[in-house]
Amino acid sequence: MKKVDYIIVGLGIAGISFCEQLQKHGKSFVVIDNGAEGSTAKSGGVFNPTVLKRFTAAWNASAFFPVAVDFYNQISEKLKQKIFTETPILRIFKSVEEQNNWSVAGDKKELKTFLSSDFLKNTNPAIEAPLGFGKVLGTAQINTNNLLSGYRNYLKEEDALLAEDIQYEAIQQKGNSVVYKNISAKKIIFSEGAKAIENPFFPSRAIIGNKGEYTVIKAPELKLNALLKGPMYVIPLGNDEYKVGATFCRNDYTLNSTETAKDEILSKLKTFINCSFEVIGQTAGVRPTTKDHRPLLGVLDENPNLVFFNGLGTHGFLMAPLLSEILYKHLEEDVFLTKDLHIKRTKNWK
Ligand SMILES: Cc1cc2nc3c(=O)[nH]c(=O)nc-3n(C[C@H](O)[C@H](O)[C@H](O)COP(=O)(O)OP(=O)(O)OC[C@H]3O[C@@H](n4cnc5c(N)ncnc54)[C@H](O)[C@@H]3O)c2cc1C
Repeated sequence: MKKVDYIIVGLGIAGISFCEQLQKHGKSFVVIDNGAEGSTAKSGGVFNPTVLKRFTAAWNASAFFPVAVDFYNQISEKLKQKIFTETPILRIFKSVEEQNNWSVAGDKKELKTFLSSDFLKNTNPAIEAPLGFGKVLGTAQINTNNLLSGYRNYLKEEDALLAEDIQYEAIQQKGNSVVYKNISAKKIIFSEGAKAIENPFFPSRAIIGNKGEYTVIKAPELKLNALLKGPMYVIPLGNDEYKVGATFCRNDYTLNSTETAKDEILSKLKTFINCSFEVIGQTAGVRPTTKDHRPLLGVLDENPNLVFFNGLGTHGFLMAPLLSEILYKHLEEDVFLTKDLHIKRTKNWK
């Protein structure tokens, strides 16, 4: 029997962040992940402490932001991979009213460091932005391919990865331990993203899957080095390729690419890009969102060794590093977990 402190199920940004906490504190662990691409793999990889629809800060951004920046810089060094590239977001202004709203928002304490007070003129002939851009600072692109493949390889070298589907029926609780096949652990952390709906221990209706699709285009004339935010994001991938999207479809857990999403994305794209492009791909993933837009951490009364780390929603990259620290301290140092984070609050959700 292999004895470890923790078993972690799911290696997206939640699982990786928790692994890093365990490493930091000298705890042993094994990760079980089936290698299917989850939300982290299918995301846009945009690291953004703001919400650009209404010019507000993301929830708790000032607390999440510094911890996350350190986390991605450290993990880039550890994996010797380029994972975190600081890249501004250029938000296209739709109206003079929006410019005024941006200035008002930028004076607020929580947004001062993120919304640049200088408006940028558009000098790119391939972009339609007669009123120019607001520039968001502190933003970055996360290279999710490098992060996920780098971390998987690292775990393989450490002999800490079981590349398989978890068999929930094989999980046994024995005294103060959890036993899975030939592994015994103090606790098991479930971080399967939206796939948690298949976990029999996970409270039903706690997660709402929200499908998002991107279209991938090749546009040699676009010459864009920043993240562009119009009615959709345009995310540079290098080699004149860009991800454009994403769509939102609540309660949809399917992973197929659809013509409807492609049509929506391309018709919106054509309102702010006027150069030619070729569609070269399409991707789809499911965001693990919750009805109160807050994460789901901790244990339920009936199973104190089964721990959940989920509900990262639309800002997973910003939130996961600090949340993993909060969860670790709750489990190992008995630090109080506030109700707005605790999975117990989902008990009466319908
Ligand atoms: C289209 C789209 C765009 C997005 N864009 C952004 C963005 O730009 N910025 C941002 O911050 N967030 C974005 N998000 C949200 C972000 O991706 C999520 O908040 C975050 O990645 C969730 O991470 P997770 O680790 O909880 O889940 P996941 O990344 O889904 O990881 C779960 C892992 O568990 C594995 N797994 C699941 N079930 C099992 C099982 N039974 N057995 C074994 N392994 C299993 C999966 O294969 C996967 O590897 C986007 C999401 C989508 C879908």
